[in-house]
Amino acid sequence: MIIRKTGIQASPGVAIGPALVLDTEEYRIPRRTITPAERGAQIRALDAALSASRQEIQELISAAALKLGQQSALIFAFHDSVLGDPRLRAEVVEGIERNGYTAAYAFAQAMNSRQRYFLSVTNTYIREKVEDLYDIEKRVLRHMLGRAREEITRLTEPVIVVAHQLTPSQVVSLDKRQIVGLAIDVGGQTSHSVIFARMLGIPAVVALNDFTADVAGGDRVIVDGTHGLVIANPDDETVVDYRQREQQYHKFETSLRALRDLTSETRDGVRVRLMANIELAEETRAAMEAGADGVGLYRTEYLYISSATLPTEEAQYDAIRQAVRHAGGKPVTVRTADFGADKDIPCLAQEPEDNPFLGLRSLRYCLAHLDMFKTQLRAILRCSAEGDLRIMFPMVTTLMELRQAKTVLNDVMEDLDENGIPFRSDVPVGIMVETPAAALLAETFVREVDFVSIGTNDLTQYTLAVDRGNERVAYLYSAHNPAVLQLIRGVARAAETAEVDVNLCGEMAGDPLYCQLLLGLGLRQLSMTPKNIPEIKKIVRSTTLRKCRTIAARTLKFDAERQVVNFLRDEVRKIIPEAV
Ligand code: PEP
Ligand code: MG
Repeated sequence: MIIRKTGIQASPGVAIGPALVLDTEEYRIPRRTITPAERGAQIRALDAALSASRQEIQELISAAALKLGQQSALIFAFHDSVLGDPRLRAEVVEGIERNGYTAAYAFAQAMNSRQRYFLSVTNTYIREKVEDLYDIEKRVLRHMLGRAREEITRLTEPVIVVAHQLTPSQVVSLDKRQIVGLAIDVGGQTSHSVIFARMLGIPAVVALNDFTADVAGGDRVIVDGTHGLVIANPDDETVVDYRQREQQYHKFETSLRALRDLTSETRDGVRVRLMANIELAEETRAAMEAGADGVGLYRTEYLYISSATLPTEEAQYDAIRQAVRHAGGKPVTVRTADFGADKDIPCLAQEPEDNPFLGLRSLRYCLAHLDMFKTQLRAILRCSAEGDLRIMFPMVTTLMELRQAKTVLNDVMEDLDENGIPFRSDVPVGIMVETPAAALLAETFVREVDFVSIGTNDLTQYTLAVDRGNERVAYLYSAHNPAVLQLIRGVARAAETAEVDVNLCGEMAGDPLYCQLLLGLGLRQLSMTPKNIPEIKKIVRSTTLRKCRTIAARTLKFDAERQVVNFLRDEVRKIIPEAV
């Protein structure tokens, strides 16, 4: 029977193959008590399993660094730190000695309490780390219980991996030549497995609920990662159709690779800078490889999210300097920490608020915690001596806020000057335009900054009064709403008149659907996830500014959003027939 399921698009492309259904490996460990004489042996078994697991992790760190770069290796560094945590071992030993539990049961208990804690926090980044905790637990238990490690590297034919959950270490050990697609029951777009799948270029769909229950090993499965769709047991006609799409996608991908070293310029000679959004300094290298003209948005709050304590000036300096160096002379726009709202930071003292998106977030938080803010500004300014660095303040609402931030920046500059520490005193300073207030007063703001960058992710939510993370109102969240588009156009015009650089760094910048519209609205710089750069470059190189202006003018005349989407989709399909 044909089964179709829709999930979340995790990694684009089409794949067809027999299913390899991975065992969920749910170990059920009985609560068996042991005699005092057996305790020593249980503790030795625990230590042996921990050290064998750490050994494997070290191998994975080297393999990941080699195959996928330092950023991926960092994920396993987290595994290593959990496995080497003396508190974890002490807790398990106490379970064995005090309660007479077996090592396996005491270990599972200790991991369980950590998993529950991670699941209870609201921060998505932390919550998604629970996947790594499951992975660690399985690895150690496998050693304790003597189960052989399943080797999905030793496959003899191409398969679609169907799994309830896929842990990062499983994804890394995948043999890309044999694994052609992934269909996963759980997960979100930002979970590590998905990041890996995207980096590896394997089509993937997640959040499929219970697809593992619908499929048996060997069943034919189609994964359409571009549309977030999976089909089990398709009929021949559907297979033929998807085979064609698969081939088209491969051809398309290969053709994009050829664009890497070509300039991003429209057919009528308008240069469009395609920049990268990064969260970690290491991503700069991949961004440059994808052909980025620089980093348009470095989300520095990730330095705080991934740290148990406030990152020091030195730690921030090292990370930012790394990004500047990898950029090799191209611009790096460093956004000062954008805390709060959906990004709560465990190492900061943040009071719970009823409306965190409208609360003490972002620049407001920094201005209320000057010591921390100045530490970050010192680190950023020091890096300005090392390359083309630019400083950007997020979530600016009023001119007073901007002036206050600039005063703090000047204080830090004076301080560095007095201490003879090098920095660029004329470092460009800009703001993100992500509140309607800043967008409406763009003409005033541009007089006081060197550049602006439109953050449409937030601008959309504040203009439409729609929480960007609430799926119940997701139908109202659209960056192509005429109100948002008019704000974008207004900001672009104000910046052009004042001869101030304007960038757009929200998710819409990397969406092929919006590229021509944004150029038509006056944008000449777009900043996006590095992997989107080649596709956007393709559109830029295939269109003309004249055409883009016509598209923008028509788009602004529609009153129904559906019409806008249909129109833009038709336009982008003329260039990229594979586009959604
Ligand atoms: C934005 O709001 O558009 C943006 C780029 O910032 P973030 O997604 O980090 O809030
Ligand atoms: Mg934002």
